[in-house]
Formats: sequence, structure tokens, C-alpha cells
Amino acid sequence: MIESEDRSDADAKVVVDGVGKVYNSERQRVRALAGVDFTVADGEFVCLVGPSGCGKTTLFRTIAGLEAPTDGEVRLAGAPVTGPGTDRGMIFQEYGLFPWRTVRGNVAFGLEEQGVPEPDRSQRVEEMLGLVGLGEFAGAYPKELSGGMKQRVGIARALAVDPEILLADEPFGSVDAQTREMLHAELLRIWSETGKTVLFVTHDVEEAVTLADRVVVMAANPGRVNEVVDVDLDRPRERTASGFAEAVERIRTLIGD
Ligand code: ADP
Ligand code: MG
Repeated sequence: MIESEDRSDADAKVVVDGVGKVYNSERQRVRALAGVDFTVADGEFVCLVGPSGCGKTTLFRTIAGLEAPTDGEVRLAGAPVTGPGTDRGMIFQEYGLFPWRTVRGNVAFGLEEQGVPEPDRSQRVEEMLGLVGLGEFAGAYPKELSGGMKQRVGIARALAVDPEILLADEPFGSVDAQTREMLHAELLRIWSETGKTVLFVTHDVEEAVTLADRVVVMAANPGRVNEVVDVDLDRPRERTASGFAEAVERIRTLIGD
């Protein structure tokens, strides 16, 4: 038993080890995270769920290397995170696209930063736009796109530099329900085609049960892991399939709503 736990930790792609975070400002001190421990295996799809304010974004930013933990550390393939890196691609709720760049220019951004030369760069951009079905919109600007299309650009941009880990913070929160379902199917297809490890933050329990192999259920004050739930349902998942509603109910009960 102990042996197998040791091995799974060594094999893990992401290890969140005793992570705590305190925000200190002049007026107040907020303990956003306390003693957060969990691991994500290579190629696994893990969702983080929990009520507003339980530290999901703080944890996402800590794994991304945008925020330093006050206690503990995050390790990626064994190495402690000390800042952002091209091993992690990020997708944000508000797209974070450059409005002055075309779709093609947005997807090319990380490749330019890396100094990837032509024609490799353009080839990679075309490949990514094909992957998300936006080949015909390569020359369009973000303001000409729907929310769902913008988020597909966000996915293509995150994947362009071929990160091993995809990190998303409530990425589909601003799109309508029908578009969100399409994006779920698309993300799952990309995940199975590329074998990426995905860490996906959401407050939507049904979204988590649709997507994840495992769901890390968090609690607030201070932000911590309440329980990690295995979602043992066949893919593709239908909300009406047997077991779906039970998994949703179980997680909702853990969250306390
Ligand atoms: P979630 O994404 O789950 O809603 P957050 O990580 O955004 O949670 O926030 C967790 C807690 O930390 C909240 O109490 C929030 O107000 C606080 N917090 C988040 N970011 C900051 C910050 N930059 N400075 C001070 N407090 C913060
Ligand atoms: Mg958040």
C-alpha cells in the first residue's frame, strides 16, 4: 500500500505538496490556501471545483508559476515550480487575446517568444488552427469572433508551444450553454489526441463530471482539499447516463450546496 503510494507520487506529472498561501495587504491578511496536497498523473484530466473564494484561482496561479506559495511547493515532473514556463499552457476565462493581433498572430505569440523560425512557425500555427477548426479565420481579429471562437483561439494559442500540461481557469464561464458543450467535446477530443495532462478549474459541478478523470473538491476558509472524487464513467459522457447524476450529487454534497 505505502509502496504503491510512493510510486504514484514519483510518477506524477504534477505534485501539489503542502501548498499554503497567505495574501498580505496593508488592511488585511487572507489565508487563501492551507495544506493543499494532491497529485495529477501524466495524461490525466483533473478538475478543481469548489465554492467562490476557496482558492481555485490562487492554486491555478501557483501551479502556473504566477504566484509563489507561502508554504509547500508544486513540482512538475519532479522539479519545483519557480515561475511560468513553456511546459504549461494557460487558458483564461476572459480569453486574454491580443486585440491588435489577428487569430494567426495570437496563436503565433508563444512561438515568436521562443524564437521558432519560419516556416516552422507558420506551419505550427496552421496545424493548431486546424486542430480547433479555425483555419478559415486565421486573418480575423478577436473582435470579429464569437465567444466560443475566441476561446478556441485561446486553446490553440496555449497548445501552440506544445506544453505538457494544460492549465485552465474557468475557461468556458463566459460562453452560453450550447457553445460550452461544443467546447467540452472539442477539448476532450484534443486531450485524447494529444495526451496532454489537463488541470481545469471550474465552479460548475456538471462540467467537472463531464470532463474529469478525477475531481478535486475544495472547501473555503481556508482553501483546502475536502476530497478527491474518482469519476468512473464511460466516455463520451451524457448527462442522462446512469451514474452521472449520482456523481454530481455526491460532489454537490461535499461542496455543501
Ligand atoms: P476562487 O478562484 O476559488 O474564487 P481565489 O483564489 O480567487 O478563489 O481567492 C481565494 C481567497 O483569496 C479569497 O478570499 C480572495 O478574496 C483572496 N485573494 C485572491 N487574490 C488575492 C490578492 N491578490 N490579494 C488579496 N487577497 C486575494
Ligand atoms: Mg477563481
